[in-house]
Amino acid sequence: MTPIKRNPTRPVQIGRLTIGEGKPIAVQSMAATRTQDIPATRRQLELLQEAGADLVRIAVDSRQDVEALARLSAQSQVPLSVDLQENYRLAAQVAPHVQKIRYNPGHLHHHEKDRPVRDKVAFIAEQAVDNDCALRVGVNCGSVDPKLAERFPAEDSIAPMVESALEHCAILDELGFNRYCVSLKDSDPTKVIEANTRFAAQRPEVPIHLGVTEAGMPPEGIIKTRIAFEQLITQGIGDTLRVSLTVPFDDKGEEIRVGRQILDDIYTGRFRSVPKVLGGGLNIISCPSCSRVENEAFVDLALKVRQVTQYAKAHHITIAVMGCRVNGPGETDDADLGLWCAPNFVNLKRGTQHLGHFTYGEVLDRLREEVDRLISSH
Ligand code: SF4
Repeated sequence: MTPIKRNPTRPVQIGRLTIGEGKPIAVQSMAATRTQDIPATRRQLELLQEAGADLVRIAVDSRQDVEALARLSAQSQVPLSVDLQENYRLAAQVAPHVQKIRYNPGHLHHHEKDRPVRDKVAFIAEQAVDNDCALRVGVNCGSVDPKLAERFPAEDSIAPMVESALEHCAILDELGFNRYCVSLKDSDPTKVIEANTRFAAQRPEVPIHLGVTEAGMPPEGIIKTRIAFEQLITQGIGDTLRVSLTVPFDDKGEEIRVGRQILDDIYTGRFRSVPKVLGGGLNIISCPSCSRVENEAFVDLALKVRQVTQYAKAHHITIAVMGCRVNGPGETDDADLGLWCAPNFVNLKRGTQHLGHFTYGEVLDRLREEVDRLISSH
């Protein structure tokens, strides 16, 4: 098991679901259909529910969407969240039909430009209180309020996102509303990692919804998302997550299945990247494996690495075992010791240094020598 110390976030209740306070990380998704197409959206809800969604989000941008939402909500088995687009006043109409409302701080300036943002947030929070709803402050890199973005250098896209999230948390806190979570999303996983890390350092008690926007199609979309989630969840950041994939409507359940698979992999030590923060002691991580594995002996090797290094379990050493020559060489750079598998041999590394290649039979003895060397140098 990967030792993960979750951030001490407060609980946020969303219908029958609670996120934060150490609860299992909830997996959610969003209906991709036009909300007014009730049969198609109902089918999406069913698919996501069958796949095990904890929460499903629906976009609402018009009165017709609200009418459709009311009918869909009456039959939904799973808590619903609604995504307010630019019309924040729709919160009053949607709140009676959902358990959570997401608003984007960067969209609040579109309507009633002279009304202070604080008033608009107060309006949304009031609807949430009156209708027993939670809120999500959903900051998106592509739609930060331009006035706020002007305060930061153009090349720093992360600072405005973090500042926007902090500002809105402060507004909600002042209003006495704390049933909210926050998301900071970008299509670049490295920015998602940085933005969420910075925010969590300042507000560790606020539950965080993780996601990489427009991640794209599998497998690239899954890989990007996986890397961001691996780095953040091992730091204790994240209370709910959404995987955004470009998949046909009928395959939408894939987002939930992939989300759960990534969580399972993280907790059982299967990583695509080497986490920067892992607990003390020996950490063996291995990639989740995929069609690029060229020698099935990889799986057995990962198990044996674990067995033969147990004697070092009190030492803070990270060993990464990767299944292929495509990503193995780069993905092992951040580990103390790395092994990556070619068809007939295994490459061994110490950090970024290549130590040589060995047969599958020989490499374990050589690995043990390197572990001994690390222990004596500590
Ligand atoms: S390291 Fe290679 S085999 Fe392992 S998951 Fe990544 S691409 Fe697939």
